[in-house]
Amino acid sequence: MNLTLHGHAALVTGANGGLGSHFALTLAKAGADVAVAARRVDSLRDVDAQIRSAGRKAHAVALDVTHRESVVQAFVAASDALGPITVVVNNAGIAVTKPLLEHTDDDWNRVVGVNLTGAWRVAQEAARHMVEHERGGSIVNIASILGLRVSAQVPSYVASKAALIQLTKAMALELARHKIRVNALAPGYIETGINREFFASDAGQALIKRIPQRRIGHADELDAALLLLASDAGSYATGSVIAIDGGQLVNTL
Ligand code: NAP
Repeated sequence: MNLTLHGHAALVTGANGGLGSHFALTLAKAGADVAVAARRVDSLRDVDAQIRSAGRKAHAVALDVTHRESVVQAFVAASDALGPITVVVNNAGIAVTKPLLEHTDDDWNRVVGVNLTGAWRVAQEAARHMVEHERGGSIVNIASILGLRVSAQVPSYVASKAALIQLTKAMALELARHKIRVNALAPGYIETGINREFFASDAGQALIKRIPQRRIGHADELDAALLLLASDAGSYATGSVIAIDGGQLVNTL
């Protein structure tokens, strides 16, 4: 079993905090050189420094997943700095928490625009890049258990993540012949910027009581699944969805 990533160059989107910076560092500690991407390059300084401290090369690239040219240029910049990219963690994501009846078209379009259409752009450009360089690769789409079950007040989010899971499977089907694996990681609730405020609220505390393990997760509890999907240890895994959620999906409440 080879869970290491020596000889690989990775690109992680939404890498300036939350799960993204954690994923970038996890890949670096496993031996990958890592391009870290987000809209504000300045905000990538910390993770860039941490990757270098781990003894790997880092490269910060500006990326807005809602613009095709920005995605294309990010792959050019990342591969110019680190060589052909063989691991992509498609992590950038946003949520709007608002009752269904109050959700506006703008709320819907923003969430679907980043979580689904943006993820599609990144995954498609990743695949084109990998096909061109003929080395194969692994694309890990960061979905959510809310792509597999629903929750109130996040209709655009649950729809975008469910569609991302189907896109993962569709890509796996067409890209296997190019030795490109496409899988989804579906975390349960992990404390980060996207949900910190929510879990401090009464509604958040009530939700924690419905998780079988009675707690939210830590980012490092996703590491083994991420490395399985990213590395050669997962060489037969494609089109898979791995949920890591403290048992929330098996809870019927
Ligand atoms: P976060 O802390 O809010 O980070 C979101 C990241 O996405 C930021 O780095 C943000 O950077 C980036 N981003 C937003 N819009 C972007 C755009 N247009 N182009 C490029 N980057 C953009 O959220 P998180 O909790 O770490 O979530 C990361 C991923 O995990 C998301 O896909 C989320 O749905 C998923 N997830 C999280 C949890 C959880 O409990 N935390 C659970 C399940 C799934 P900029 O705004 O600076 O660009």
